[in-house]
Amino acid sequence: MSDSLTFPVIAVDGGAASGKSSTSRVLAQRFNLLHVDTGSHYRALTFALTQAGIQAEAPESVATALQSLQLDQAIDGQSSRIRVNGHVPREEDIRSDAVNASVSHFAAVPELRTFLFQYQRAQAEVAQREGFAGLIMEGRDIGSVIFPDAALRIFLEADEATRAARRQKEGQQDAVAERDRLDATRKTAPLTCPEGATRVDTSHMTLEQVVDHVSGLITATTALQPVA
Ligand code: C5P
Repeated sequence: MSDSLTFPVIAVDGGAASGKSSTSRVLAQRFNLLHVDTGSHYRALTFALTQAGIQAEAPESVATALQSLQLDQAIDGQSSRIRVNGHVPREEDIRSDAVNASVSHFAAVPELRTFLFQYQRAQAEVAQREGFAGLIMEGRDIGSVIFPDAALRIFLEADEATRAARRQKEGQQDAVAERDRLDATRKTAPLTCPEGATRVDTSHMTLEQVVDHVSGLITATTALQPVA
């Protein structure tokens, strides 16, 4: 297992459409970090399992089906993209209305979360091996479960109206409040701001303001320096 205390890891958690992805992507460029969007991991598995006719309501069949899935990654610029049985799933497949509606149900299955744990944790080694200065990983449980020892843990928040407007602008049908309710009330690794993480409310901030604010936190708490 990688020593994330010497290799800098930035954990970014928050609800749906809180600004995690846009912020993490820009920060990855600015500090030469490998960017990992763990929401895409849950989406990729939801798509693969659904295609195989598996339903989240039958956790034992989820656990069995996972055994036939091999995970690795493709590095695409600053991003690490999950491959399932050798293929990077298509964006339109993992961000479909059907996946939006079922992903939180699959994400509540403990066996599925355990299946992703080692893969996600190993991304620090991938980042180091590929010559990145650090890792920025975004999700719901990064600062609480995957990297509780991260150099910096950020929790992004935005009010519901702002988040719904952001998703609408992206042209997505997504009941963000309902997904957050399911994510925050599940038994395993619920969405929560972990103790010691820094909360940032992005409702009335531009992307640039959020990025500048978190950049300041990164330079104050780690040895990372902007490269772009
Ligand atoms: O980030 P995104 O909205 O794409 O995540 C999709 C879903 O994946 C979330 O609503 C949540 O159910 C699940 N997820 C999770 N833990 C993470 C990342 C995402 O449970 N670390």
